Amino acid sequence: MKCSKAKKLIVTSPERRKEKDKNALIEHLRYCEECRQYYHYIKKLDHLLTQLPQPEPPPFLLTRIKSEIHTDESTVWIPVKKLAWGVLYTIFILLSAFLGNKIGEHIFYIEEKQAILAEVNELNEEWSIFEQEWNNQTVEVPLSEVENEQ
Ligand SMILES: [Zn+2]
Repeated sequence: MKCSKAKKLIVTSPERRKEKDKNALIEHLRYCEECRQYYHYIKKLDHLLTQLPQPEPPPFLLTRIKSEIHTDESTVWIPVKKLAWGVLYTIFILLSAFLGNKIGEHIFYIEEKQAILAEVNELNEEWSIFEQEWNNQTVEVPLSEVENEQ
């Protein structure tokens, strides 16, 4: 197996790899230090990505969708004028709450993102240090970790 093919398989999720590809990949990782390091690098990135915050849906979204669905046409047209200001006011309040929430999330997200970017930069540095070392030597590493993964 070529390194390019191995690297493609490494970034494919394990359950999507074909059985024969899995075996060929294990075989390749057995003797290719570069791809083995790449494999560990991707695993680390994968782990970091799971640490990203999950976005929350905007507040009252479900309530708003439900009220849209259950609105009966006959009740919509009668008190329009009376309700207009009330509706505008409600929309304004919802929008303010939504925007306030979004801004808060955004600030939180930027901090998280910077922390993760710092981690990624560290990994990139580790990777380039490894590349330099790799160019100078060949090292045998036990495969137990790789086989446990399958
Ligand atoms: Zn390789």
